[in-house]
Amino acid sequence: MDVEKTVSETIKKYKLAKKSDNVVVALSGGKDSTSVIYIMKKLGYDVQGLLIDLGLGEWSKIHNEKMKKFCGENDIPLTIVDLKKELGQGICFIKAVLKKQKNLTGCTVCGIIKRWILNKWAKKLGADKLVTGHNLDDEAQNVLMNFLKGNVLLGVNSSPSTGGREVRGFAQRIKPLFFCAESEIMKYARSKKFDILYEKCPCAFGTYRVDTREWMAGISDLEKKKIVENFQKLVPKLRAGSGRELVVCKKCGEPSSSELCNFCKIISNI
Ligand code: AMP
Ligand code: ZN
Repeated sequence: MDVEKTVSETIKKYKLAKKSDNVVVALSGGKDSTSVIYIMKKLGYDVQGLLIDLGLGEWSKIHNEKMKKFCGENDIPLTIVDLKKELGQGICFIKAVLKKQKNLTGCTVCGIIKRWILNKWAKKLGADKLVTGHNLDDEAQNVLMNFLKGNVLLGVNSSPSTGGREVRGFAQRIKPLFFCAESEIMKYARSKKFDILYEKCPCAFGTYRVDTREWMAGISDLEKKKIVENFQKLVPKLRAGSGRELVVCKKCGEPSSSELCNFCKIISNI
């Protein structure tokens, strides 16, 4: 697989971005988001990086420094947002409280919080598009996880562009790596000798996603592509029957699928 070609084709086929768009890329410091910002810059898009400093000790410090260096070398503007300043608490504290209060796993909490901060800051930066580094493996895992949870409808928004359409006032979230296998992105990032951390997040253990990733280890990239492509055929039907519309959260004003967004639901008692 040619990762650059697949990204370029996905952007064209799904009309993910225009050259005139202000494209904000959510940078975790890992191989996926680093590759996608590099490729989009190379393809001529107007990109800038947005990194949330999660305050996870040395891990975050190294990511921050490496991303500063990478963006500097590639002439890419970078904004770093301090999670503790944004929320008044560190991520570990919030996770510990929510584990006790609502038995929510760390990755769920981290995902909801990151999404909320990224949306808010993308708007502040005047983004037309907010890019994340989600890849084919992430999407195949989602299909399987939702099926095993007995709730295929959870995948109703699965698409290279979230919601499949633009919502006024919000930066549309797009996933140019939607059809790129993780193994190929890893090869790509290494071939480019990106000076980044290649390990997974140290906090990601003991979660349903981690288990699912392990179960899927024996499935080939081609099969993963078929899973994702077949599910994409189902999405319009799910969407038509779901009645789910993206609305504005009545508390914080961010995009939501119900009156209160997931962030406001989980964070209100902390
Ligand atoms: P993950 O949920 O960690 O697999 O990350 C999925 C995507 O979310 C990454 O490819 C990034 O685009 C984005 N992301 C994750 N962590 C961060 C972070 N600390 N700051 C900004 N974006 C992030
Ligand atoms: Zn809210």
